[in-house]
Amino acid sequence: MDLDTLADSLRDGDRRALSRAITLVESARADHRRDAVALLERIADPGRQAMRVGLSGTPGVGKSTFIESFGKMLTGRGMRVAVLAVDPSSARSGGSILGDKTRMEELARDPAAFIRPSPSQTELGGVARRTREAIALCEAAGFDVVLVETVGVGQSETLVARMTDLFVLLLAPGGGDELQGVKRGIMEIADLILINKADGELRRQAEATRADYAGALRLLRRREGDADGFPKALSVSAVDRAGLGAAWDEMEALARHRRETGHWARVRAAQNRHWFEEAVRHGLMRHLTSDPSTRDRMAALGEAVGAGRTAPSAAAEEMLAALLPGRD
Ligand code: GDP
Repeated sequence: MDLDTLADSLRDGDRRALSRAITLVESARADHRRDAVALLERIADPGRQAMRVGLSGTPGVGKSTFIESFGKMLTGRGMRVAVLAVDPSSARSGGSILGDKTRMEELARDPAAFIRPSPSQTELGGVARRTREAIALCEAAGFDVVLVETVGVGQSETLVARMTDLFVLLLAPGGGDELQGVKRGIMEIADLILINKADGELRRQAEATRADYAGALRLLRRREGDADGFPKALSVSAVDRAGLGAAWDEMEALARHRRETGHWARVRAAQNRHWFEEAVRHGLMRHLTSDPSTRDRMAALGEAVGAGRTAPSAAAEEMLAALLPGRD
């Protein structure tokens, strides 16, 4: 399929074309990369914006179950939903594979949904680029909501928060921050904390946990872009499918506030600048290891430093002068 046809099918919302395009952006092959860049250039359309939602939670908290229920609620309201995953670990933690279709069976069968599991890639820089580009592809394919799932380990949250409009943290009832492995930094980027499993015997405990977090959130410094009362803590049950509509309504209310105040556009612009700079940095780093003469020179200078023939700073200066001839 040529790029024009792929771009057209993608814009028509064709899920096979979307799959194919994501495979293209995931590829490390130089010719694929060129095609991927050309495709992304072709589909860029600032008028088509999805709500990009980051979703994080430790293994077992109910992410898959929640995405299945929440996704079905959204498609039931006539929306199209895409699910992507950022998995920073090669050894998948807690046995959960993020974005695993077999754990979201009903949603995976829904024609209004698209689920893409995380590729088995370990380098965080590569994962970031792939996810950001996959989000852009889902947007171009007309999805209304793009959910980006990640596991609550810290680094990947920051990364996901830098490519989404809203960040949702899923927690289980009971336990303090430490028990749930919640880092303060993650709480600070959350717009909505959802205490899941608020059903049956856990319901009361979930409500107590919700109240605890609501209290903790009130102590956080108010952030630019927050509507009144945000960040908020709500309780939901992914199994009973309770509280999901209310959670969505809160997300929409916050999104509306951010759009109206211009915060939304400012954040997206800042995010784009960030990823542009990251891509340049990443390309420079890659050049150090992939360009044969650069690699040899690095190795030779490294050896000279190791043997004490050259001081580290002098060797670095020599390397940089070779890489960037016009630099002061
Ligand atoms: P993940 O590892 O975060 O993706 O969590 P899963 O979605 O696989 O869920 C982990 C366990 O929690 C499973 O046994 C689920 O059935 C259970 N679970 C998920 N959501 C709920 C809920 O709303 N209520 C209850 N009671 N259990 C839930």
